[in-house]
Amino acid sequence: MSSNPVRRPALSFSVELSLVYAVLFTVSSAVLFGLLYFLLSSALERKDREVVEARLNECAAVYDSGGLPALREVVQHSRDSDKTKSFLVRVTGQLGSVLLYSVPDDWVQSDASSLGALGNNPRQAWLRIPKDDERDFTVASMRLPDGSLLQVGRSTNSRETVLQPFRRNFLLVMTPTVLLGFLGGIFFSHRAIQPVRDVVATARSITDTGNFSARVRTPRGQAELEELAREFNRVLDKNQALIQGMRDALDNVAHDLRTPLTRLRGTAEAAVQSTPDPVARDALADCVEESERVLTMLTALMDITEAQAGVMKLNLEKASIPTLLAEAVELYEFVAEEKQISVTTDFAEPCEAEVDATRMRQVFANLLDNALKYTPAGGTVQVSCRAMPGSARITVRDTGMGIPAADQPRIWERLYRGDKSRAQRGLGLGLSLVKAIVEAHQGTISVRSEPGQGAEFTVMVPLALAAPAG
Ligand code: ADP
Repeated sequence: MSSNPVRRPALSFSVELSLVYAVLFTVSSAVLFGLLYFLLSSALERKDREVVEARLNECAAVYDSGGLPALREVVQHSRDSDKTKSFLVRVTGQLGSVLLYSVPDDWVQSDASSLGALGNNPRQAWLRIPKDDERDFTVASMRLPDGSLLQVGRSTNSRETVLQPFRRNFLLVMTPTVLLGFLGGIFFSHRAIQPVRDVVATARSITDTGNFSARVRTPRGQAELEELAREFNRVLDKNQALIQGMRDALDNVAHDLRTPLTRLRGTAEAAVQSTPDPVARDALADCVEESERVLTMLTALMDITEAQAGVMKLNLEKASIPTLLAEAVELYEFVAEEKQISVTTDFAEPCEAEVDATRMRQVFANLLDNALKYTPAGGTVQVSCRAMPGSARITVRDTGMGIPAADQPRIWERLYRGDKSRAQRGLGLGLSLVKAIVEAHQGTISVRSEPGQGAEFTVMVPLALAAPAG
């Protein structure tokens, strides 16, 4: 049997989902910002140009109708009437001589030097000259019908004064937004895949504890996940019914075989006494021994079923756990000696509990039997008992072959035997019976083991049984 260790995903799906969500969120916010930025800056540009263009057309119309003198008059007039809103107007002749040049007060002469380069080829062209942090100059040029070049310019608000705070605020707003988006993503994806986690937890609890009655909660309002949980539960129902069916069949077979086998053993026993032929006697003795073995197995199967169904009859009485353990150790003294295994006991304090002594002897004998069976010669088995508040803790520890982690949840199943244990005698029923008896006493049993390092079985039994509920 190959045992694949369960591989956990390197990155949780919900974190991955949140990261993707955060990246998408950041990219779309950046795209949105870029678009807004572009629209805003082009709107600002358009607004500036509209004013200058209107003035340019106006000047061109004046020039068309009245020539240079009329234009000069209009320019002079508007400068006088409103100095703050005055325009730059420049007319250059075909040969490059400046025919008209009116510069507003807030223009520096050198700013105008770059004007010459503009407006040669296209009929209309634009120039933007940054002035300072707050102002720009926007200049438009137009070739007039007589070949001279008309340029109109105006001081406009620097686009940077609007765009820079926009950029700064974007970063200010984006940082917490992205963080919030990421945290929100984690929260929502964590919530969204909760049902998937439930399915995993249920599957794991079934494999770890063998408790087939575990079911997944069906999430409300999430159609696909609701269906997943429902279908998963249906599979579990079917599995449970199948397992129950198998158990029932086994119980029925055990029950039905017991009577004929007991009769067979009785007949063989009687025949052993009366047969004079030694060969036939040996054969009959074998029959008695084998039917004894099968009967033990059938009895154990029936006991497990009874204990698990809660109908095992327990003759409860106050008993000293160390005494019961000592009896079991004594019973196996010979086996231990033969295998050269030293058995040590540690019963420091008296510990009395209300138990069925016969059943408890069975528990201890089984644990001790396994410890000796699966420990090689020269090993040690330690048996100890401690009185804990409300319960007795019994441990049986050995230095044997140990139990692989993958097998540990399965050793309690009926008829389960570890791969490496098949060389030893056994039926695979000992631990199932032990567990069933301990649980019938409202106790628990657990195992800790490292392959090659031995195994430690811990039984906890309450000092007194709680009255059944109801
Ligand atoms: P078996 O008849 O095989 O001993 P049990 O139900 O008593 O059946 O035990 C089930 C399996 O648990 C064994 O086959 C063995 O693989 C494992 N096991 C039980 N006790 C020990 C132990 N002390 N050390 C190692 N393996 C053990």
